[in-house]
Amino acid sequence: MSTPQSPDWQTLSVDVNLATDSFINGEPYSSGSNALLEHVDPVSKKNDYSFHNSGAKEVEVAVSAARDCYENHWSNTGPAARKKMLGELANLIDANADSIGIADCLDMGKPISAANQEAHIAAGFIRYYAEMIDKVYSGHSVPTGQGALELQVMRPRGVVGAITPWNFPVINVALKIGPALAAGNTVVIKPSELSSRSAILVAKLAIEAGLPAGAVNVITGDGVTGDLLARHTEVDMLTFTGSTATGKLLLSAIGQSSIKPILLECGGKSPEIIFPDAAEGNLDAIAQTVVRGAFWNQGQVCVARSRLLIHSSIYAELIEKIHAVASSMSVGNPLDVDCMFGPLASTRQQQVVEDFIESGIEDGANLILDGRNPAGGEEGCYVGPTIFTDVPANARIAQQEIFGPVLAIFTFDDDDQALALANDSEYGLAATIWTKDIVRANRLASQIKVGKVKIVATPAMVEGPMFSHSAEPCGQSGYGVEGGSDGLFSYMRKQSIEFAMG
Ligand code: ADP
Repeated sequence: MSTPQSPDWQTLSVDVNLATDSFINGEPYSSGSNALLEHVDPVSKKNDYSFHNSGAKEVEVAVSAARDCYENHWSNTGPAARKKMLGELANLIDANADSIGIADCLDMGKPISAANQEAHIAAGFIRYYAEMIDKVYSGHSVPTGQGALELQVMRPRGVVGAITPWNFPVINVALKIGPALAAGNTVVIKPSELSSRSAILVAKLAIEAGLPAGAVNVITGDGVTGDLLARHTEVDMLTFTGSTATGKLLLSAIGQSSIKPILLECGGKSPEIIFPDAAEGNLDAIAQTVVRGAFWNQGQVCVARSRLLIHSSIYAELIEKIHAVASSMSVGNPLDVDCMFGPLASTRQQQVVEDFIESGIEDGANLILDGRNPAGGEEGCYVGPTIFTDVPANARIAQQEIFGPVLAIFTFDDDDQALALANDSEYGLAATIWTKDIVRANRLASQIKVGKVKIVATPAMVEGPMFSHSAEPCGQSGYGVEGGSDGLFSYMRKQSIEFAMG
């Protein structure tokens, strides 16, 4: 039931005006081509709008606009002006959080309360990087002999091509354009074909915020459009978040076209390890947190805690509690303010997840909670929380990223076994360790091969690093630093200037 103060999202979603055309050089752009893609509403599986599948011509127009803006406007815009405009963009994203949230909710089925909140988080990322503009020194000098001086100066890279996924549409756009623009680059975004409307809205708000036309461009389209952008010789850098398979294709596209740096944030299969010392008296709260970590955003999260490793002494009791919490989650219409669990983003994703569930059964795992065909979700792309125990180490659900609400549970007896299980993955994005033992925590953190380790000693909520978090993944999860202050420098190149004045 909605609280009386809650907006009526159903009505707002009908009234909101969401554009679907590419946005290039400060205005909606249509090449007139009749290459169209159909968007499918994940709640009803009905086509709800069509949009352009941009080809070489649209990519050319967008990259030229970004190049022109970079050379003639943005790179000549001083730090104070850039900071002001990006700050204003953050304010406008906050002010338009309802429309942005509705766009992501309708496009990929994210529950509206989360979608709305994510628009504010996106604004926070833009604001964080806006504020960095006049706070960080973009270079330093190095030791030289008398009469010589060498400066090491950080420069923008130029035109950045950003290819983003559908799981956190507006956050991913902000995570790319925030640092890219703050560093002095211009951007062409190719959002996911499942969720392009929030990116288009953000590009429009950038104009309202005073950014010059061409600083933020959006081209709609699928992977073919993304590939054209990646290969374009006037794109100086690529930044990508998405699947490992697409990350590999992008590396090969670069190899076949022009050399350019690429920031790759790809898939994950993140372990969560629970030791008994953290569990004492906390099992109910831990069960709640485990369920949230695995099934948040319907499990469509690169850092989803999808492999749960429970110490044998608490295994049976904790599983019972996790099962109870997960079973109580019902699927709902994402426009309902109380909905906690919406549909998956697409029929393809639903099929992928259902195939993985089938493979878990075939590979001999024990299905203790089956989320297929959940009550109330018959019409849409719904799969509810799903849990397997007794998962063989080589099962597909143990090894491959599912990107859906499927949790694989394992047990261990000692630290070495836990470490071996945690590292039995080609991915290296994140790991969570529940323990109060600081020695164990430090040893395991140094030996787990992932970009981000979270040590949890208590289920109580504590404030985390938020926008200042930065990390670099390893293994098949990608490379390059994203987020936080270090993330700004991923969008810059270092130049040395040597003065000989003796
Ligand atoms: P998923 O499989 O979960 O949809 P993808 O990695 O395919 O994730 O998608 C992430 C982004 O990459 C989307 O914007 C998508 O259109 C884009 N993309 C997909 N294939 C390619 C490709 N071959 N080259 C460039 N971009 C691509």
